[in-house]
Amino acid sequence: MTLIKKRKCPECGGGMEAKLINLNYKKRDIEMEVEVIGIPANVCTRCFYRIIPGKVAKYIDALVDPIFESENRCIEKVLPSPHIGIQFPFINREVYADH
Ligand SMILES: [Zn+2]
Repeated sequence: MTLIKKRKCPECGGGMEAKLINLNYKKRDIEMEVEVIGIPANVCTRCFYRIIPGKVAKYIDALVDPIFESENRCIEKVLPSPHIGIQFPFINREVYADH
């Protein structure tokens, strides 16, 4: 499952490091936010540019999109939009990254 390969930052040419990151997902015109914790990504050590592997990004989209859709379908606002968090279990770097 090597998802993260060693590479140079496409923005500044700096070195990149495999890390688990957190991201907030938002959609236009939907108040709700989904926080996703523990996403494997390549992070530039100089400018902090982040690259999430395509497979991972697709998987997270598939998880998060139905949540936004159901929120979007709500006609009557019963409660304020909730904060939703998705947390992946911690995985060791050796598992998802080249080293
Ligand atoms: Zn960079």
